[in-house]
Amino acid sequence: MYNLVKAVVRRVISGKLLIKHECLLRRIMAIPYRGNGHRCNICGYGLRAFVEINDEERLCPKCGSSSRARRLYTILENEVNPGDRILHFSPPGAIRRAYEIKPDIEYVTTDYKGEFTAGKCFDITDIDESENMYDKIVCYHVLEHVEEDEKAMMELFRILKHGGICFIQTPFSEEMAEDQSIISLEERLIHFGQEDHVRIYSVEGLKKRLTEQGFGVEVLVMNSNKDDYFGLCPGEFVLKAFKP
Ligand SMILES: [Zn+2]
Repeated sequence: MYNLVKAVVRRVISGKLLIKHECLLRRIMAIPYRGNGHRCNICGYGLRAFVEINDEERLCPKCGSSSRARRLYTILENEVNPGDRILHFSPPGAIRRAYEIKPDIEYVTTDYKGEFTAGKCFDITDIDESENMYDKIVCYHVLEHVEEDEKAMMELFRILKHGGICFIQTPFSEEMAEDQSIISLEERLIHFGQEDHVRIYSVEGLKKRLTEQGFGVEVLVMNSNKDDYFGLCPGEFVLKAFKP
């Protein structure tokens, strides 16, 4: 039902108008979902159910947050301290809107391809920032798109303050798969899971690569059941990379 309404709205309202009135439209579309069985931890909306996208993905109809975004939000709420300067690559809209109005932190957003609303347009392999600038960096679902990922990790390390933390996530498989001779979109889809992915990491493979750049790495294993109150994703891995 939600997807049907969304498709109709998309058909009758132009893209620019949709972006301008996104919050209002979401407020209306969320009304049938209002209830007490679940709650979105980002926008606080009480829900009878999240919008089921698939077995792992549940959307908040009010703020548009994914399961992954809500998990990230819980992590940030525990880890971010007053006065922190945060850099967020390709931020989900729900988190961006929530963090942009927090008074006691500096929240900087960046998106290289312009697919997300962001303040900067940094090339992650050559970031236009001084060293030791950020207390926290969020780099979710970016590195699997980057050919020179070790250069990107080096840049993340450089701009992070000593004692700072970079939260990193990519899609994972059991074995790392990487082959620079695979360049066609079709082949990349087959081997790396998406047409614009240049590799697929294993958790250990990504941890090793980050460690080689000087990071200390803790692997967070996040479990939750399908009926989780906050609609989080079961079996999620997040790499918490520290700069000593
Ligand atoms: Zn929400």
